[in-house]
Amino acid sequence: MHNIDIEVVEMSLDVIKYAIRRVTATDPKLGYPKSEAELDELAGETITPKGIGGENAFKIFRDVLLESSVSIDHPRHLAFVPASPTRAGIMFDLVTAASSIHGAYWMEGAGGIWAENQAMKYLVSLTGLPKGAFGVFTSGGTTANLSAIVAARGAWREREPAQERTRGLIITSDGAHSSVKSMAMVMDADIICVETEGRLEAEHLEAELAALSPEDRERLFAIIATGGTTNAGIIDDLDGISKIARREGIWFHIDAAYGGGALAAPSVRHLFRGIENADSVTIDPHKWFFSPYDCGAVIYRDPSIARRVHTQGAAYLEIATGEASGFNPADYQIQLTRRLRGLPLWFSLAMHGTDRYTEAIERGIELAQIAGRMITSAPHVELVREPSLSCVLFRRKGWKPEDYNAWTHRNHKSGYALVTPTKSRASGGFETVARFCFINPDTTEDDIRGILATME
Ligand SMILES: *Cc1c(COP(=O)(O)O)cnc(C)c1O
Repeated sequence: MHNIDIEVVEMSLDVIKYAIRRVTATDPKLGYPKSEAELDELAGETITPKGIGGENAFKIFRDVLLESSVSIDHPRHLAFVPASPTRAGIMFDLVTAASSIHGAYWMEGAGGIWAENQAMKYLVSLTGLPKGAFGVFTSGGTTANLSAIVAARGAWREREPAQERTRGLIITSDGAHSSVKSMAMVMDADIICVETEGRLEAEHLEAELAALSPEDRERLFAIIATGGTTNAGIIDDLDGISKIARREGIWFHIDAAYGGGALAAPSVRHLFRGIENADSVTIDPHKWFFSPYDCGAVIYRDPSIARRVHTQGAAYLEIATGEASGFNPADYQIQLTRRLRGLPLWFSLAMHGTDRYTEAIERGIELAQIAGRMITSAPHVELVREPSLSCVLFRRKGWKPEDYNAWTHRNHKSGYALVTPTKSRASGGFETVARFCFINPDTTEDDIRGILATME
């Protein structure tokens, strides 16, 4: 199976031909999931003692399984947080896989890690964090948040060894991403989600701090703000919150997994003022930096704290982790063995230059503004709130939650578009509304107009 035989050579050609076609496709099929039973039926037995052969397996993938998976880069996929990896990034993902480099330790991955770090320097420069700040690429925002919060807790306990066995406490807002709450659970830390009308303001935080019991104040080790809520693109008062965190001596983490791309957009960069005061920042390049999955990033103001917390100690690793070993991505987040998931981003940045990134990100913001204007002027829909970053929340007058769900499935099943509802508290209680999230710069005004027409 490790030999180079004629089947592998022939398959390579087929696979590369497919990949070239897909990388250069401008109209990928949207894709709609079939049930597991249907897929069992259509694909049949694939794992057998003798194998079904590469050609068969590939055919099943191409003709059956792909049809049942959504192409996340479809220009009318505006649901959740869509993605739109650059063609250069996808192409280099193939190269990254083919190169078989271990990305945990400089000793093994030096060249690839050097390139990843070039891309990281660009991300760090966008935050305005001071010299010395640095980070690593993770599997996504969830692991970036977890790595940062674990570092925060480690810093707290380092400073106050008496807290070694105390259950920690985190303050964030109700707009924080679900992964923040999940990661608090993974860490067995308590979390307070301050109620807001969408944006966490300094006053909310002051009130919450004033209401804490002395015991809870002792347990508080992190404040987490959001740099672009996933639901509505709202940016918390990062500057105000950072000053309170500084005054209180509490670690300040900013989750900009989705919104981080907007740091490269001059039109909205001012909304992130205060991000330079953070102790750690999460950015997901696989969202708004057009990197293929999966690629998150965690950045630390002082990476040495993260290194003390995250470095794994094992007899067989000592030779790779010693003092003079170079930069080891494994030492700054929770994962050990890792692919060089920052390499596709590096290649694409190197090929295109950062200006093209700024343009593509600004286009997402512009599309949200365009959609906002179309919604305002159409009789059957109305904005729930002003578009923020690339998110647009709007309602179809007279629709109930089940109408939104039926509309989503109708458009998805027909292969036209994937646009999903969400809930908003903008008008008091929880209301089901429609949501656009723009990432793909190839989405057109006609696409938006067409989708709105499916709600008439
Ligand atoms: C998407 C998102 C996450 C989770 O990131 P994954 O890459 O899906 O793990 C966390 N926080 C925010 C604000 C997000 O938008």
